[in-house]
Order: sequence, then structure tokens, then C-alpha cells
Amino acid sequence: MPGIADLSGRTVNTLRVGAMTSRYPAPKYAVVCSRCGARTTESQAKLTSGAARCVSAGCGRDGIREAIADTPAKARQREADAEAAKRREKEEAEVAKLARAEATLAETASKVARTIRERISTQPDDEVFVTPELRDAKMSRDEAVKFDGEQFRVFASRNSWFHDTPGNRRTVLEYFQRNRLEIIDAQMFEAAAKRLAEFSLLPDERPAPVLAKPETTTVNLSVERTEPQPQSRPETKIGIDPLTGREREYTRWEVGRMTADDFAKAFGLRRVDYAGSPVRSIR
Ligand SMILES: [Zn+2]
Repeated sequence: MPGIADLSGRTVNTLRVGAMTSRYPAPKYAVVCSRCGARTTESQAKLTSGAARCVSAGCGRDGIREAIADTPAKARQREADAEAAKRREKEEAEVAKLARAEATLAETASKVARTIRERISTQPDDEVFVTPELRDAKMSRDEAVKFDGEQFRVFASRNSWFHDTPGNRRTVLEYFQRNRLEIIDAQMFEAAAKRLAEFSLLPDERPAPVLAKPETTTVNLSVERTEPQPQSRPETKIGIDPLTGREREYTRWEVGRMTADDFAKAFGLRRVDYAGSPVRSIR
């Protein structure tokens, strides 16, 4: 082809030049982009001047083209982004590490708590609180029973969080039995109840206040509220309080939560005078 240099086989920018596709009015070549594979034709003039570039929209987005088009501001931004990503990654790693450490710590703490819980629920508690003035106190068994009963009521009236149920009372009393303590004042009841509560050893938690549930009729589609029933007085039953050895009223709710043993003690199926139970340390 005289006068025209055949460009076939050359590469201009990313374009590999293939066969000439037309000669007139100006020579054109088939070109294939070596980066994205896009095929098109390109004029000899542009190929020769070096102006020919791949025009495929997705070509070289992340490649040389972008780097060439990079302005200093863009470059700074990209550096800042990379920096921020690195920082985030580091922070995330720190957080994950901390979470693992916390989990380990929590696991250890819960192991320790389980050990203490097991010990104070079965053995004397090394940390049992005894009011200093009572350490060497002496009283008769009857006096002690009376004192304990009065002090229990003082404790209960000062500690509304404590749910005064037979189960909770029994748990507190058994704690003192394990610790060989017979003369117990309000402070000691409080310390014991809190210690037991701390390790979730009190069987009965104070129930959350029950919200009145409006009743609706199911027959009539227009919603009618039934009149609230007047609150009936809770049914009570007179029994023996094992703590004081005296009679007191038990609500139906309390009775419902009693163990067979509590029930027997309270309602005289096996009449047990608390004062007659084994007492060792009273002198
Ligand atoms: Zn391309």
C-alpha cells in the first residue's frame, strides 16, 4: 500500500491495532483494547498521533488512567481514605480484643461467683456479718426467739426490696443456722438477705406490679369494657410463723408458694415450735 504505513500489529496506548477496515476517505483499523477487551475502529490519524484511547466506559477505572487523571487533591483524599480505613481496622481489632478480654473476665467472675454461691449456700460464710455488740450476747432461747422475730420485722419494714415469703424467710434462717448464729438483729438480717440476694439465692423475687388488664367482650364487636370487679379481700389463713412461733395470717398467695414442709410447720400438721428446734450456740 504505497504512501500509507500499515499500522496493523502495533499497540497505541491500550489499543492493539488489527486489520485495516477501510481505506477511504481516511484509513481506519479494527482495534482491541488489551485492558478491557472492547473492540472498535480507530482512524489512522489518531493512532499515529497517539490520541487514540479506549472509549469503553468501564475501562481502566482502577488503573493507570485514573492515576494519570489524579489531581493532588484526589491523591490526598485517597491517602486520607486509606489512612482512615487502616485506623478503622485497627480500632475494630482493638474492640474485638477488648471484647475477648471482657468475655474472659466475665467468665472468671462468673466462675468465682458460682464458687461463692455454692459455698455460702452449703457452708458457713467467711464473710457473715455479725453486729459487734451481739458477738458475746447471751440470752435465753425464748428471749432469742422473741428478739429475732422483732428484729426480723424491723429488717423487713426497712427493706422493701426483700420479698417476705416463707421461702425467703427459710433461706435467710438456714443461712444463720449454717453460720451457727442464733441471736440476729435487723442489721444482720439485712446483711444476710443482701448477701443471699447478691448470689441469687433468695428463691422469691418481689413480683413486678401487675398492670390492670382491661377485659374486652368477644361477642360484641363494638369494644365494651367490662366494669372492673371490686377487689375482694385476699383470703387468709391463720398459721404459726416458724420465725416467731406465734400465730399470724398467711395470704392465699403465700400458702400457694409454700413447700410441704413449710405448710406442715405453719399449719400444725407437725406442730413445731421454732424455739424447740435444735439450738446450739445460745449460752
Ligand atoms: Zn479498554
